[in-house]
Amino acid sequence: MIITCKCGKYEFEVTKNEIPKEGRDVQCGVCNETWFQTPYERKAKSTSTISFGFLRTLFYIVLIVLTVAGVMDMLKDYFIPNFPETINYYLFSQNIIEQIKNGISNLFILLGIRY
Ligand SMILES: [Zn+2]
Repeated sequence: MIITCKCGKYEFEVTKNEIPKEGRDVQCGVCNETWFQTPYERKAKSTSTISFGFLRTLFYIVLIVLTVAGVMDMLKDYFIPNFPETINYYLFSQNIIEQIKNGISNLFILLGIRY
């Protein structure tokens, strides 16, 4: 397993036998920092990071799909009074939509299409 020093800069490869189930004190050979190391700490940490990242990605995908479908716009009058922080989302999405529209119309101009 790989353990990370408290300083966050150095990682060390150790065998399972070196870190007992109940954990033990270890010392960084580079910066001399000492900390209590429990087995598989890093493994557990990275699993939760992955699932959190996955959920966040899923959340954004759902948000994008809803935006494209115009659902978020339909719910605007409900969201803004009830959840004032959603105003940031609307300002952000408006900006993005504006940029996409400009991009598309520039592309049309470039292709000589009028609409
Ligand atoms: Zn260190």
